[in-house]
Amino acid sequence: MACSMSDLLLTPEVAWALATGGPWPDPENLQGDARFMAMALREGLKGVGLASPNPPVGCVLVKAGRVIGSGVHTRAGDPHGEIMALRDAEARGEDPKGSDAFVTLEPCCHHGRTGPCTLALIQAGVARVVVGVRDPNPRVDGGGLAILRAQGIAVEEGTLGEACARFHAPFFKLIRTGLPWVTLKLALGSDGSLGPIGRSTQVTPPDVQQLAHALRRASEAIVVGRHTIAVDDPQLTDRWQAPATPHRSFARVVLDEDGLLPASARVWVPVAGQPVFRAVTGDPVPLRGVEDLHLPPEGRGCSLRHLLYELAALGVGRVLVEGGGTLAAGFLAQGLVDEFHRFQSDLPAAGPALTLSIPTNWRMEAAIRWSTGCWEAWR
Ligand SMILES: [Zn+2]
Repeated sequence: MACSMSDLLLTPEVAWALATGGPWPDPENLQGDARFMAMALREGLKGVGLASPNPPVGCVLVKAGRVIGSGVHTRAGDPHGEIMALRDAEARGEDPKGSDAFVTLEPCCHHGRTGPCTLALIQAGVARVVVGVRDPNPRVDGGGLAILRAQGIAVEEGTLGEACARFHAPFFKLIRTGLPWVTLKLALGSDGSLGPIGRSTQVTPPDVQQLAHALRRASEAIVVGRHTIAVDDPQLTDRWQAPATPHRSFARVVLDEDGLLPASARVWVPVAGQPVFRAVTGDPVPLRGVEDLHLPPEGRGCSLRHLLYELAALGVGRVLVEGGGTLAAGFLAQGLVDEFHRFQSDLPAAGPALTLSIPTNWRMEAAIRWSTGCWEAWR
C-alpha cells in the first residue's frame, strides 16, 4: 500500500507523540485558549504508560497570559493533574487566585483515593476552567462542570476537544467496556508477509526502530504469541532511552497455552519492573519466576478477550500486541484492536501473506515514509 504522508521527521519526540495517539497540536502554532490546552496536552503526554487505570490528565494554570503552574497525573493514588499544577504554582511562589485552569479532561468531583479536583480548584480561587473533553466516568460525566459553574467559576468545554478525546480514548474505553486499549504493531514486507515461517526477519530500518520502542513505552503490557518467542527469542523488554519516563511496571505476556516453550527462552529471565506472564489454558509445568494466567480455551488458543480482562485487573490500561500473524489476525477478527501501527517495507519478506481485516471505518492517522518503506498508524 502506498503511503500518503511523509512530512514528519522522525525524532524521539515525534516517535513519542505518535506512540501516544498523536501527532498532537503544537502550542507554537496556536493562539488563545487552544495554545494553553495544547500545553496541557503536552503535560498529559508525560503520564502515558504511568497513570493507568487512571487517565494521564494534564493541566496548566495561566494568569495574565503567563503559565504559572503545570502538572500531570502519573500514578493511581497520587494527586491528579490539577492538584499537581496548583502545587507547582505554589512551589514557584505564584498565587493561583484569579487564574485560568486548562485541563485535558473534566475535573473529577468524587472522593476517590484523592479529594475531588473541583474542590481544590474552587478553594484555590481559580476564576475560569477550560476543559478539553467531558469525563464519561458515570461518577463525573458533567458533574464536575456543574459544580464549578455553581460556584460562579466560568467553564469552557471542548477546547481542542477532538485531540483531548483522542488522547483520553484509552481511558474512555476502559471506563465504558472494562477492557484496556489495544495497539497492534506489525512489520510487514511488500508481499504482506511477516517473513518465512520459522525464520527471523528484520524489515524495519534501525532509525525507525525507535517508533517500536516508543510504542512499548506508551503501553503497560506487551503480548506476543509462542511462535514469536520460538523464532526470535526476544526479551520483550522496554529499553527506550528517551524522552519519556520509564514505566514502574511493564507486563510481558507470552501466549503459550500448552506450555511448549523451553525454560531457557530469554523472555523468562527476570527483569526488574518488567514482570513476565505466561498465558496458559491447560496445566503445564510451572516455570520459575513466571506467573501463569489461566485462561479459558477458545479455538486453537485461549480467549483473547479474557486475557484483556485479566490485564485490566492487573491495572493495565494500554496493551501492545506485537504478533505474530496468527495472534494479530485473532485480535483483529474479534474486533479487539483499537489502533494498528503498520511498518511496511518496499522489499518482500518472502513468507506467506497475512490476511488481515482492517475495519473499514478506520482511517490513517499518521504516516512516515523512509527510503525503503513506510509506517502508518490506523484507528
Ligand atoms: Zn481529579
